[in-house]
Amino acid sequence: MRKSALVLFIAVAGAALAAQAPAPKATPPRAMRLYVLDCGLLNISREGVERYHVTTAEVGETRMPVPCFLVAHPKGTLMWDVGVIPDDDVEKAAASGARYDVNPTAAAVVTRTLRSQLAAIGYRPADVTYIAISHAHKDHTANLNQFAGATWLTPRAEREFMWKPNNERVEPRFFSALEKSKWVPLDKDEYDVFGDGTAVIKAAPGHTPGHQVLVLSLAKTGKVMIAGDLYHYPPERGFHRAPPDNEFSVQQSAASRARIEDYLKATKAAIWIEHEWAANAKLKKSPQYYE
Ligand SMILES: [Zn+2]
Repeated sequence: MRKSALVLFIAVAGAALAAQAPAPKATPPRAMRLYVLDCGLLNISREGVERYHVTTAEVGETRMPVPCFLVAHPKGTLMWDVGVIPDDDVEKAAASGARYDVNPTAAAVVTRTLRSQLAAIGYRPADVTYIAISHAHKDHTANLNQFAGATWLTPRAEREFMWKPNNERVEPRFFSALEKSKWVPLDKDEYDVFGDGTAVIKAAPGHTPGHQVLVLSLAKTGKVMIAGDLYHYPPERGFHRAPPDNEFSVQQSAASRARIEDYLKATKAAIWIEHEWAANAKLKKSPQYYE
Protein backbone atom coordinates (compact mmCIF):
# COMPACT_ATOMS: atom_id res chain seq x y z
CA MET A 1 0.00 0.00 0.00
CA ARG A 2 1.28 3.48 -0.85
CA LYS A 3 1.72 5.85 2.05
CA SER A 4 -1.17 8.14 1.03
CA ALA A 5 -3.49 5.14 0.64
CA LEU A 6 -2.42 3.84 4.06
CA VAL A 7 -3.17 7.21 5.66
CA LEU A 8 -6.60 7.25 4.00
CA PHE A 9 -7.23 3.67 5.16
CA ILE A 10 -6.35 4.53 8.75
CA ALA A 11 -8.58 7.62 8.65
CA VAL A 12 -11.56 5.65 7.32
CA ALA A 13 -11.01 2.78 9.77
CA GLY A 14 -10.67 5.28 12.61
CA ALA A 15 -13.91 6.99 11.67
CA ALA A 16 -15.70 3.63 11.50
CA LEU A 17 -14.44 2.72 14.97
CA ALA A 18 -15.46 6.12 16.32
CA ALA A 19 -18.95 5.65 14.88
CA GLN A 20 -19.21 2.35 16.76
CA ALA A 21 -17.97 3.70 20.08
CA PRO A 22 -20.98 3.72 22.41
CA ALA A 23 -19.91 6.35 24.91
CA PRO A 24 -17.36 9.14 25.19
CA LYS A 25 -14.21 8.11 26.99
CA ALA A 26 -13.56 9.87 30.27
CA THR A 27 -10.48 12.08 30.41
CA PRO A 28 -8.37 11.65 33.55
CA PRO A 29 -9.57 14.13 36.20
CA ARG A 30 -7.20 16.77 37.57
CA ALA A 31 -7.90 15.67 41.16
CA MET A 32 -8.75 12.18 42.38
CA ARG A 33 -12.44 11.25 42.32
CA LEU A 34 -14.36 8.47 44.03
CA TYR A 35 -17.50 7.07 42.41
CA VAL A 36 -19.90 4.90 44.47
CA LEU A 37 -21.73 2.38 42.27
CA ASP A 38 -24.82 0.28 43.01
CA CYS A 39 -23.99 -3.42 42.79
CA GLY A 40 -27.15 -4.66 44.52
CA LEU A 41 -28.20 -5.75 47.99
CA LEU A 42 -28.30 -8.75 50.31
CA ASN A 43 -31.35 -9.90 52.25
CA ILE A 44 -29.99 -11.42 55.45
CA SER A 45 -31.92 -13.94 57.55
CA ARG A 46 -32.03 -13.79 61.36
CA GLU A 47 -29.45 -16.56 61.52
CA GLY A 48 -27.28 -14.58 59.11
CA VAL A 49 -27.47 -11.46 61.31
CA GLU A 50 -26.60 -13.43 64.44
CA ARG A 51 -23.43 -14.72 62.76
CA TYR A 52 -22.00 -11.27 63.44
CA HIS A 53 -22.72 -11.63 67.16
CA VAL A 54 -25.49 -9.04 67.07
CA THR A 55 -29.28 -9.45 67.20
CA THR A 56 -31.83 -8.23 64.66
CA ALA A 57 -33.14 -5.84 67.35
CA GLU A 58 -29.66 -4.39 67.87
CA VAL A 59 -29.04 -3.78 64.17
CA GLY A 60 -32.55 -2.62 63.15
CA GLU A 61 -32.06 -2.70 59.40
CA THR A 62 -30.86 -6.19 58.49
CA ARG A 63 -30.40 -5.69 54.73
CA MET A 64 -26.94 -4.97 53.39
CA PRO A 65 -26.06 -2.86 50.35
CA VAL A 66 -23.43 -4.17 47.94
CA PRO A 67 -21.47 -1.18 46.69
CA CYS A 68 -18.71 -1.10 44.08
CA PHE A 69 -16.19 1.75 43.87
CA LEU A 70 -14.25 3.41 41.07
CA VAL A 71 -11.31 5.64 41.94
CA ALA A 72 -10.39 7.93 39.05
CA HIS A 73 -6.95 9.44 39.57
CA PRO A 74 -4.90 11.65 37.22
CA LYS A 75 -2.52 8.69 36.78
CA GLY A 76 -5.08 5.93 36.22
CA THR A 77 -8.10 4.16 37.62
CA LEU A 78 -8.66 1.69 40.45
CA MET A 79 -11.73 -0.52 40.70
CA TRP A 80 -12.46 -1.67 44.27
CA ASP A 81 -14.94 -4.54 44.85
CA VAL A 82 -17.05 -5.70 41.93
CA GLY A 83 -20.43 -6.97 43.10
CA VAL A 84 -22.34 -10.15 43.83
CA ILE A 85 -23.91 -11.19 40.49
CA PRO A 86 -22.08 -11.03 37.15
CA ASP A 87 -23.37 -8.42 34.67
CA ASP A 88 -24.20 -11.09 32.06
CA ASP A 89 -26.62 -12.73 34.52
CA VAL A 90 -28.13 -9.36 35.46
CA GLU A 91 -28.74 -8.57 31.77
CA LYS A 92 -30.57 -11.87 31.28
CA ALA A 93 -32.79 -11.39 34.35
CA ALA A 94 -36.20 -9.70 34.51
CA ALA A 95 -36.51 -6.03 35.49
CA SER A 96 -37.17 -7.06 39.09
CA GLY A 97 -33.54 -8.13 39.23
CA ALA A 98 -31.20 -11.08 39.17
CA ARG A 99 -31.13 -13.32 42.24
CA TYR A 100 -28.38 -15.41 43.76
CA ASP A 101 -28.04 -17.07 47.14
CA VAL A 102 -24.57 -16.27 48.44
CA ASN A 103 -25.21 -18.83 51.20
CA PRO A 104 -28.37 -20.07 53.02
CA THR A 105 -28.50 -16.84 55.08
CA ALA A 106 -27.77 -14.21 52.41
CA ALA A 107 -29.90 -13.73 49.26
CA ALA A 108 -28.64 -11.23 46.70
CA VAL A 109 -30.74 -9.08 44.36
CA VAL A 110 -29.10 -7.01 41.62
CA THR A 111 -30.99 -4.76 39.18
CA ARG A 112 -28.20 -2.74 37.49
CA THR A 113 -25.04 -3.84 35.75
CA LEU A 114 -21.68 -2.51 36.81
CA ARG A 115 -20.62 -1.96 33.20
CA SER A 116 -23.66 0.22 32.39
CA GLN A 117 -22.88 2.43 35.39
CA LEU A 118 -19.23 2.68 34.32
CA ALA A 119 -20.25 3.47 30.71
CA ALA A 120 -22.46 6.30 31.98
CA ILE A 121 -19.34 8.06 33.33
CA GLY A 122 -17.14 7.23 30.35
CA TYR A 123 -15.30 4.09 31.51
CA ARG A 124 -15.17 0.53 30.22
CA PRO A 125 -13.90 -2.34 32.38
CA ALA A 126 -11.17 -2.88 29.76
CA ASP A 127 -9.85 0.67 30.40
CA VAL A 128 -9.37 0.21 34.13
CA THR A 129 -5.72 0.35 35.26
CA TYR A 130 -5.85 -1.47 38.61
CA ILE A 131 -8.27 -3.98 40.11
CA ALA A 132 -8.36 -4.72 43.83
CA ILE A 133 -10.91 -6.35 46.12
CA SER A 134 -11.30 -6.03 49.87
CA HIS A 135 -11.48 -9.84 49.89
CA ALA A 136 -12.54 -12.75 47.71
CA HIS A 137 -15.96 -13.65 49.15
CA LYS A 138 -18.73 -14.07 46.58
CA ASP A 139 -20.41 -10.72 47.28
CA HIS A 140 -17.27 -8.74 46.33
CA THR A 141 -16.02 -10.59 43.26
CA ALA A 142 -18.82 -11.28 40.74
CA ASN A 143 -17.45 -9.13 37.90
CA LEU A 144 -13.74 -9.77 38.33
CA ASN A 145 -13.44 -11.49 34.94
CA GLN A 146 -14.28 -8.21 33.22
CA PHE A 147 -11.16 -6.65 34.79
CA ALA A 148 -8.68 -9.35 33.78
CA GLY A 149 -6.85 -6.78 31.62
CA ALA A 150 -6.09 -4.56 34.64
CA THR A 151 -3.15 -5.02 36.98
CA TRP A 152 -4.41 -6.96 39.98
CA LEU A 153 -3.29 -5.69 43.39
CA THR A 154 -3.66 -8.60 45.81
CA PRO A 155 -2.01 -10.11 48.84
CA ARG A 156 -0.41 -13.41 47.91
CA ALA A 157 -2.43 -15.14 50.67
CA GLU A 158 -5.75 -14.00 49.20
CA ARG A 159 -4.78 -15.16 45.71
CA GLU A 160 -3.88 -18.59 47.09
CA PHE A 161 -7.16 -18.69 49.06
CA MET A 162 -9.08 -18.08 45.81
CA TRP A 163 -7.70 -21.13 44.05
CA LYS A 164 -7.74 -23.39 47.10
CA PRO A 165 -9.65 -26.56 46.09
CA ASN A 166 -13.21 -26.92 47.45
CA ASN A 167 -13.25 -23.45 49.00
CA GLU A 168 -16.98 -22.84 49.53
CA ARG A 169 -16.52 -19.16 50.42
CA VAL A 170 -15.51 -18.23 46.86
CA GLU A 171 -17.06 -18.65 43.40
CA PRO A 172 -14.26 -19.60 40.96
CA ARG A 173 -16.36 -18.84 37.85
CA PHE A 174 -16.37 -15.18 38.91
CA PHE A 175 -12.60 -14.82 38.58
CA SER A 176 -11.21 -17.63 36.38
CA ALA A 177 -9.78 -15.09 33.88
CA LEU A 178 -7.61 -13.47 36.57
CA GLU A 179 -5.38 -16.51 36.83
CA LYS A 180 -3.37 -15.10 33.90
CA SER A 181 -3.63 -11.40 34.83
CA LYS A 182 -0.62 -9.30 35.65
CA TRP A 183 -0.56 -8.99 39.45
CA VAL A 184 1.36 -7.22 42.17
CA PRO A 185 1.75 -9.11 45.45
CA LEU A 186 0.87 -6.85 48.40
CA ASP A 187 2.99 -8.32 51.17
CA LYS A 188 3.45 -5.23 53.37
CA ASP A 189 1.09 -3.34 55.67
CA GLU A 190 0.51 -0.58 53.11
CA TYR A 191 0.62 -0.24 49.32
CA ASP A 192 0.53 3.17 47.67
CA VAL A 193 -1.47 2.62 44.45
CA PHE A 194 -0.60 5.78 42.48
CA GLY A 195 2.67 6.64 44.20
CA ASP A 196 1.47 9.94 45.72
CA GLY A 197 -0.15 8.69 48.95
CA THR A 198 -3.71 9.52 47.88
CA ALA A 199 -4.87 5.88 47.57
CA VAL A 200 -3.38 3.38 50.00
CA ILE A 201 -4.37 -0.26 50.36
CA LYS A 202 -3.89 -1.39 53.93
CA ALA A 203 -3.72 -4.97 55.21
CA ALA A 204 -6.53 -6.01 57.60
CA PRO A 205 -6.48 -9.82 57.52
CA GLY A 206 -8.76 -12.18 59.40
CA HIS A 207 -12.13 -12.11 57.63
CA THR A 208 -10.15 -13.85 54.88
CA PRO A 209 -6.37 -14.50 54.80
CA GLY A 210 -5.71 -11.35 52.73
CA HIS A 211 -8.60 -9.07 53.66
CA GLN A 212 -7.66 -5.41 53.09
CA VAL A 213 -9.08 -1.88 53.27
CA LEU A 214 -8.66 1.17 51.03
CA VAL A 215 -7.70 4.57 52.43
CA LEU A 216 -8.34 7.55 50.15
CA SER A 217 -7.15 11.09 50.79
CA LEU A 218 -9.65 13.17 48.84
CA ALA A 219 -8.88 16.87 48.36
CA LYS A 220 -12.32 18.15 49.42
CA THR A 221 -13.85 15.20 51.30
CA GLY A 222 -10.81 14.33 53.39
CA LYS A 223 -9.58 10.90 54.44
CA VAL A 224 -11.99 8.03 53.88
CA MET A 225 -11.42 4.36 54.68
CA ILE A 226 -13.48 1.93 52.60
CA ALA A 227 -13.35 -0.88 55.12
CA GLY A 228 -14.45 -3.99 53.23
CA ASP A 229 -15.96 -6.48 55.68
CA LEU A 230 -13.90 -5.54 58.74
CA TYR A 231 -17.39 -5.00 60.17
CA HIS A 232 -20.81 -5.68 58.67
CA TYR A 233 -23.28 -3.87 60.96
CA PRO A 234 -22.32 -0.55 62.61
CA PRO A 235 -23.13 -1.62 66.23
CA GLU A 236 -20.33 -4.22 65.99
CA ARG A 237 -17.84 -1.37 66.30
CA GLY A 238 -19.06 -0.25 69.71
CA PHE A 239 -19.78 -3.69 71.17
CA HIS A 240 -16.23 -5.05 70.95
CA ARG A 241 -17.60 -8.58 70.85
CA ALA A 242 -15.62 -11.39 69.24
CA PRO A 243 -15.61 -11.36 65.44
CA PRO A 244 -17.86 -13.95 63.71
CA ASP A 245 -17.03 -17.62 64.32
CA ASN A 246 -16.78 -18.27 60.58
CA GLU A 247 -13.96 -15.78 60.00
CA PHE A 248 -10.89 -17.29 58.39
CA SER A 249 -9.11 -16.36 61.63
CA VAL A 250 -11.11 -14.91 64.52
CA GLN A 251 -7.92 -13.96 66.33
CA GLN A 252 -6.39 -12.21 63.32
CA SER A 253 -9.68 -10.43 62.69
CA ALA A 254 -9.82 -9.09 66.26
CA ALA A 255 -6.23 -7.88 65.96
CA SER A 256 -6.97 -6.14 62.63
CA ARG A 257 -10.01 -4.41 64.13
CA ALA A 258 -7.94 -3.08 67.02
CA ARG A 259 -5.13 -1.92 64.73
CA ILE A 260 -7.53 -0.24 62.29
CA GLU A 261 -9.39 1.55 65.12
CA ASP A 262 -6.04 2.96 66.30
CA TYR A 263 -5.25 4.04 62.75
CA LEU A 264 -8.65 5.74 62.38
CA LYS A 265 -8.08 7.64 65.62
CA ALA A 266 -4.56 8.70 64.63
CA THR A 267 -5.44 9.77 61.08
CA LYS A 268 -9.00 11.04 61.72
CA ALA A 269 -10.12 9.07 58.68
CA ALA A 270 -13.85 8.38 58.31
CA ILE A 271 -14.75 4.70 58.10
CA TRP A 272 -17.21 3.49 55.47
CA ILE A 273 -18.53 0.03 56.35
CA GLU A 274 -19.37 -1.28 52.90
CA HIS A 275 -22.49 -3.23 53.97
CA GLU A 276 -23.92 -0.49 56.22
CA TRP A 277 -27.40 0.27 54.90
CA ALA A 278 -28.12 3.69 56.41
CA ALA A 279 -24.68 5.11 55.61
CA ASN A 280 -24.78 3.80 52.05
CA ALA A 281 -28.24 5.32 51.51
CA LYS A 282 -26.79 8.76 52.28
CA LEU A 283 -23.78 8.45 49.95
CA LYS A 284 -23.64 10.33 46.66
CA LYS A 285 -24.02 7.76 43.88
CA SER A 286 -22.39 7.76 40.47
CA PRO A 287 -22.51 9.81 38.22
CA GLN A 288 -22.02 12.11 41.21
CA TYR A 289 -18.66 11.69 42.88
CA TYR A 290 -16.49 12.60 45.87
CA GLU A 291 -13.32 14.59 45.28
ZN1 LIG B 1 -19.35 -8.83 52.09
